[in-house]
Amino acid sequence: MKKNLLACAALSCAALSCAAGERGIFGLYGDTPDAKHAWAIHDFNRPYPKQVETPEGKPPSDAIVLFDGTQKSVDENWCDAKGQPTKWRVKDGLFVCTPRSGIACTKRAFGDAQFHVEWLSPLEDAKKHGQLGGNSGVIPMGMYEIQILNSYDPDPDAKVERNYPDGIAASVYAQNPPLVNASRPAGVWQTYDIIFHQPIWKDGKVLHPGTVTVFHNGVLVQDAWELEGMGTHRVKRPLVQHATKLPWRLQDHGDPVPFRNIWIREIPSRWDNTTHSEMSAKEEDVRALREQTAAKLFAKIDVKVPDAKNVNGILEVLSYSKKPAYLDAAKSLCAGYDAWLRSLSPKDVAANRTYIAGTLKGFEVLIRNKVIGPGDYPLRATLEKLNKQLNKKK
Ligand code: MG
Repeated sequence: MKKNLLACAALSCAALSCAAGERGIFGLYGDTPDAKHAWAIHDFNRPYPKQVETPEGKPPSDAIVLFDGTQKSVDENWCDAKGQPTKWRVKDGLFVCTPRSGIACTKRAFGDAQFHVEWLSPLEDAKKHGQLGGNSGVIPMGMYEIQILNSYDPDPDAKVERNYPDGIAASVYAQNPPLVNASRPAGVWQTYDIIFHQPIWKDGKVLHPGTVTVFHNGVLVQDAWELEGMGTHRVKRPLVQHATKLPWRLQDHGDPVPFRNIWIREIPSRWDNTTHSEMSAKEEDVRALREQTAAKLFAKIDVKVPDAKNVNGILEVLSYSKKPAYLDAAKSLCAGYDAWLRSLSPKDVAANRTYIAGTLKGFEVLIRNKVIGPGDYPLRATLEKLNKQLNKKK
């Protein structure tokens, strides 16, 4: 036993050369995982998001560029409703609607997505605010229209022919006017950044109607509007289940509206997150991922060496899983570390101050989250006692 304790002391002293608070030594920090969340709060085991490059004035590096000013990008990405080459034309680097030639349709199908487009109301439409003032539209999945129209309207008393509010620019057509009118005058380029989530269906019923968020010239104008129907007409059609990916469309409403810089980023549905979400997590998926993380962490632990690093490691493992093998290892590591701590001289206790306080914090996190009980490991009482003594001496 004495030999073991000496070995532990040597290891712990070696560990002291690590920076205090080093990640991995005191892994427990925020609230632990639960039945709907596979990751703890502030969990360093959680995968980091992929880096996306965002060069100024250009699409993000993970965007699918649908129009970059070239005929090639049109040929590759756009067709008409029947899959034939679009009759829309590329002119001066712009993608221009050929009136009454039909919609322009993406060749690829997309579902939930972020969509960027720049458009302009033709100058000849400057005085038209009604249905014929540079009318077009972005139609996610070919089903729901975000209106494009000349809608700049700074004078509420002006005698102009206005379109109905739920049909002006940036309205979800026939459903919801924009929160504010962020339109620019005809002849000035405008941007839409649209975040679209399609309706979610379960057993033939709408689980969630889906949402549309729109930034018009950088201004939030549709704030996660929940879809109330389909179509681009005056009569609302109820939501009907459709394929999860469909071509997106640009509307031909008879006006030669030009477009530029069109790109799309496919985004995951929040309902696909089955491992970390109050809304959509499946408990069996959460459990499986927690077990996977616990196994990875456990593989880094030397269960024969009851030092601070391994004790903190096993406490972190318990926050993910309480498999019998982990509980056995925790019992043995905590008992060994407890015996070693109780054998230390006051000077050595002081030298281990950081580890004593840090390990005690790990216990507190697990107890607060009811992963373990306050009296499950005698080591905790030893840590509390030593920590109190150390704080008194400060
Ligand atoms: Mg329209």
